[in-house]
Amino acid sequence: MDEALRLLERLSTSYAPPGGEDAVAGEIMAFLGGSIDSFDFDAMGNLIARVGGDGPRVMLAAHMDEVAMMVSWIDDEGFLSFTPVGGLDPRVLLGQRVVVHTEKGLLEGCIGAKPPHVTTQEEAKKAPEIRELHIDIGASSREEAEAAGVKMGSYVTFPAHFARLLGTRVMGKAFDDRAGCVVEALVARAAAEGGLGVELYAVFTVQEEVGLRGATTAVNSVNPRYAIVLEGTVAADTPGVPEASRVTRLGRGAAVRIMDSSMITNRGFYATLVKAAERAGVSYQPQIVAGSATDAGRIHLHGRGVATGVVGVPCRYLHSPHLILDLRDLEAAYRLTLEALKLISEQT
Ligand SMILES: [Zn+2]
Repeated sequence: MDEALRLLERLSTSYAPPGGEDAVAGEIMAFLGGSIDSFDFDAMGNLIARVGGDGPRVMLAAHMDEVAMMVSWIDDEGFLSFTPVGGLDPRVLLGQRVVVHTEKGLLEGCIGAKPPHVTTQEEAKKAPEIRELHIDIGASSREEAEAAGVKMGSYVTFPAHFARLLGTRVMGKAFDDRAGCVVEALVARAAAEGGLGVELYAVFTVQEEVGLRGATTAVNSVNPRYAIVLEGTVAADTPGVPEASRVTRLGRGAAVRIMDSSMITNRGFYATLVKAAERAGVSYQPQIVAGSATDAGRIHLHGRGVATGVVGVPCRYLHSPHLILDLRDLEAAYRLTLEALKLISEQT
């Protein structure tokens, strides 16, 4: 798992706001390098790696983008207003460090709001709205901010960090969905080395966090018969959450999705994924998550329909600056997916 850990660190500490995923695409291409027959980018920016092979055509998809923000206004005093790019919770944003991306480089800053000392009792009771927050980069005027390279449309992200925690757990930003990118890159390389009996397209999609946009076009280029979406998925195994609502738990294996708001998994294909977990000897967690969608939501509706499944690596604190996952779950997702490709080849 050492290699997976290093790749996770490299991808997680790269920046890829929706619509600006080039840095992560570059890291993935560097990792896969010579082992892949061909790389292709479509007009959206999806990275499509083809690994030859006889057998049914299978698409893997993991999204490269991370939830981010965009500068929408610079005021006379140099404060930045921003709009979220992807699902961000204002309760999580308040007080966070951020980096503003400019053509001249990265600028440090933080997200501020009116201090409690000048807040009314009514205001203090509720979470601030995003329009009540601002980004402070230390500028004293609009001119100073602009001279540093900030403009309308500049991306803002959480800062890169990566840490090993106790046991097999790690903490970093953007594990949703760099964890899936790692699993997919490792599977693509294994397929290139081993010949898994499928014609594999490993797709690294863009703009998932703003509405599954990259997958919508990528599936047209690939036109697959089967698809597996690899996701950093929600784990709610934290204090105060009842057992029935925990969705998935860290360290209990890969998540295999039964249903979410964008797809009801094809029953036959779900059974294949479960069989793959059993044959690979890895634990898995059946997952139902009503308030969540993945690229699979678009992929399975392509053409006359695509048998599609979602394999997830459970992550705590999704869409926050600090996500935590268990490396054993990442390995389980990798081995499950590899075995699933072999099963698809055998069954077809
Ligand atoms: Zn995701």
